[in-house]
Amino acid sequence: MEKLIRIALDGPSGSGKSTIAKALSSKLNILYLDTGAMYRATALKAIKCNVDSFDEKGVNTFINDIDLKIKYIDGTQHTFLDGEDVSSKIREPHVSMMASNISSLKAVRLKMVDMQREIAKSTSCVLDGRDIGSYVLPNADYKFYITASVEVRANRRYKELLEKGHQVDFEELKKEIEQRDYNDKHRDFAPLTQAEDAVLIDTSDMSIEEVCNTVLGYVNK
Ligand code: C5P
Repeated sequence: MEKLIRIALDGPSGSGKSTIAKALSSKLNILYLDTGAMYRATALKAIKCNVDSFDEKGVNTFINDIDLKIKYIDGTQHTFLDGEDVSSKIREPHVSMMASNISSLKAVRLKMVDMQREIAKSTSCVLDGRDIGSYVLPNADYKFYITASVEVRANRRYKELLEKGHQVDFEELKKEIEQRDYNDKHRDFAPLTQAEDAVLIDTSDMSIEEVCNTVLGYVNK
């Protein structure tokens, strides 16, 4: 039987993880799971249920039975909530902060982690998120912690959102990213942290191509 490989990519928002994960997935022909999409869909569910993203009791009423599915259509991840493809909706700016808030709840994380481990169980894959190397897949074959300065990350997000036609204020976006970083690093359960055995890559002054080549350099060794 062929050996499965699992790659963990962690780091703060806008560090370039998803671009790198997509490149790795296509070069190595392995599955890519964007775990942030799952927290974003959970935030959408809270909106649908009129539950505040910090309201643990309210969230507990739906989290265990959440109808959240990840499907791959022509090789691209699609996120379904209650049977609806919400892949675009979850990218709307107001969902980001809610996803960050809701992801601090233990019951939410336990549910998402269960689903992520189930997906990663029988296939070679690259997962990107905040706690993949430290908690979801502690035995991953390769672990990377991808980061960049707040200024650079805010700039990347800003351009991305403008291209999608969203009206955004740069300073507000930067503040939101700082707040999400703080939330991710300071939550009690499975916070954002660099796993001891993860390779640190600061992408502030690197092109996407350089980052991909650096990561592939380790994986192809
Ligand atoms: O990566 P993305 O920005 O789409 O993730 C949305 C939010 O979900 C993040 O701000 C983070 O708080 C949360 N998240 C998480 N653990 C993961 C992936 C995302 O807590 N593995």
